[in-house]
Amino acid sequence: MKPTHIEHIGIAVSNLDEAIKYWENVMGLKCYNIEEVKDQKVRTAFFKIGDVKIELLEPTSEDSTIAKFIENKGQGMHHIAFAVEDTNQALEDAQEKGVRLIDKQARKGAENLEIGFLHPKSTLGVLTEICCKK
Ligand code: ZN
Repeated sequence: MKPTHIEHIGIAVSNLDEAIKYWENVMGLKCYNIEEVKDQKVRTAFFKIGDVKIELLEPTSEDSTIAKFIENKGQGMHHIAFAVEDTNQALEDAQEKGVRLIDKQARKGAENLEIGFLHPKSTLGVLTEICCKK
């Protein structure tokens, strides 16, 4: 795989509205999109900083992976998303190199991205998202 840039950094938060206030009032960034991703049971908010985005993720259900993450580790850095040409190809490449995948097939994420996750057990603890624009 050949990532072209960091597309976004994902941050788990327990209260999206409170978190947006922090990012707007303290960090001086403007939230430009709020989007619910139903199959991931999250509500997301996006900010741009240069070419990189910050993605806040709030669980919408107790069985959301984000809810479990916050329960175990607290709020904070959740994942780094790398932009590639083709998500499915990148997932395949990673699997061929012995990386365990969370997603064998790309799925639809927020912001019209095709996304897939690599398992943190195979990525030295960094939950890694691979994504491309559709
Ligand atoms: Zn993400």
